[in-house]
Amino acid sequence: MNKKGINDVEIRGKRVLVRVDFNVPLDKQGQITDDTRMRAALPTIKYLVEGGARVILASHLGRPKGQVNPSYSLAPVAKHLSELLGQDVALAADCIGHPAMKAVSTLQDGQVLLLENVRFHAEEEKNNPEFARELAALAELFVNDAFGTAHRAHASTEGVTHYIPAVAGLLMQKEVEFMGNALERPERPFVAIIGGAKVSDKIGVIENLLEKVDILIIGGGMANTFLKAQGFKVGKSLLETEKVELAKQLIEKAQAKGVRLELPIDVVVAQAFEADAPHRTVNVSEIQDGEMVLDIGAVSAERFATHISTARTVIWNGPMGVFEMDAFAKGTERIAQAVAACGGTTIVGGGDSVAAVEKMNVADRMTHISTGGGASLEFLEGKVLPGVAALSEA
Ligand code: ADP
Ligand code: MG
Repeated sequence: MNKKGINDVEIRGKRVLVRVDFNVPLDKQGQITDDTRMRAALPTIKYLVEGGARVILASHLGRPKGQVNPSYSLAPVAKHLSELLGQDVALAADCIGHPAMKAVSTLQDGQVLLLENVRFHAEEEKNNPEFARELAALAELFVNDAFGTAHRAHASTEGVTHYIPAVAGLLMQKEVEFMGNALERPERPFVAIIGGAKVSDKIGVIENLLEKVDILIIGGGMANTFLKAQGFKVGKSLLETEKVELAKQLIEKAQAKGVRLELPIDVVVAQAFEADAPHRTVNVSEIQDGEMVLDIGAVSAERFATHISTARTVIWNGPMGVFEMDAFAKGTERIAQAVAACGGTTIVGGGDSVAAVEKMNVADRMTHISTGGGASLEFLEGKVLPGVAALSEA
């Protein structure tokens, strides 16, 4: 990555403002139900603690819409982080102003402070310069480790970089390096697997990847629109009628570029969008009016798996079917296994795809699992992420 990292700067005794993504899911009792994002930030926090920095963490949690709202307080996060780090993590009652300045002034080298939810201020998402300046005034150095929010130019991701030196944290570096290398310098064959509900969510990703990959595999609900473009009937499947023309153009573009575009040739169809709906596997030419496609078929899954096994680089974004229901999870399972078994570099991004990979217990066999859903999509679209662009050049 051509950006400075925490290894490139002096940290001992310095007040370091670290933007982390601690936007963790909480249950009704306010208990953290999944701390993956917190664990992902630990290497950077520990590096700073061990290097004798005074660590000031900033994050958002949920959508409090610029209002103080106790149900979005980071208090449970501070408590859990204390346990993960094995040291006390204080919580400042506000991310700017007197509560923040007072808490920072008592910080010793190697100590960690968490600022209260930055989105309790409407100025955060508006990237208000005065608010950003106040945040930045707490520290001498800014570290961005929140890949998951790097696609947003907010005060705590972009605004602060106008006031103090800004470098990438270890998680940010890892995300940008793995995905950047895969897109810019892929070992070939380079295979992308795109799935999920809708074409419209991922047009930009498909268009960008068509410029780069050798094989593009399309499954999931979005494949229906491509099947329709190929002239098949898709019954009452999820279909984006207004995107059929675009799907035709993408099929042509793939041909013109010499990219092998793989669509399902058989599918699992059901009578209803229900876990126990009667279902059968049919050739894509045999879908009946009353049926909906809820998964790729076994023949397609094997065919996709064969392509994946030859790949030196794999990017996977989007499940192959309605994997939340066991009856329609087999396609996604087969692809998860194939990606896990692939000897090349394998990268999985997208909230639901990552959940599928975790559910199928193959997460640790992937080279890289992206922590940022929206951010990884924008990265795959080839967009410049403002939170990354704002960091100092190496
Ligand atoms: P990701 O979060 O990995 O980017 P998406 O959010 O784009 O993935 O899509 C995931 C959703 O797509 C899942 O909830 C899944 O049930 C749904 N989906 C996949 N295949 C189908 C299908 N054939 N019909 C309807 N929904 C589908
Ligand atoms: Mg999703």
